[in-house]
Amino acid sequence: MPDSCLFCRIVRKEIPAKIVAETEDCLAFRDINPQAPVHVLVIPREHVASMSAVKDPALVGKLTRLASELAQREGVAESGYRLVFNTNADAGQTVFHLHLHLLGGRHFAWPPG
Ligand code: AMP
Ligand code: ZN
Repeated sequence: MPDSCLFCRIVRKEIPAKIVAETEDCLAFRDINPQAPVHVLVIPREHVASMSAVKDPALVGKLTRLASELAQREGVAESGYRLVFNTNADAGQTVFHLHLHLLGGRHFAWPPG
């Protein structure tokens, strides 16, 4: 829930984060446990639990556009990057505030594990 939600608390600056971008609707910050040289989380300011709870598809467009801009800025747009929304248990979602992982700076296997 928003009061106790970790990422809502980062949006409210109650918990520190290495913020790399802020827009009217979105916030981007470095993952605390990076899985690649570039690992940024792009989140909506508004609390949305997961992709399953998205009501406004334009919000997803804002997240993906900011992520692709950050891929440019972080220098991985040409070499390649992966954008991931882990959704619910089988995908390993651990924080139930929508977040888009921007991963880059190394090769990623396919299919994912
Ligand atoms: P997911 O497994 O898709 O729910 O991803 C949650 C991500 O949030 C993980 O990659 C965590 O490392 C990351 N994370 C958890 N707490 C923090 C935090 N305080 N600051 C930044 N990233 C975090
Ligand atoms: Zn939240």
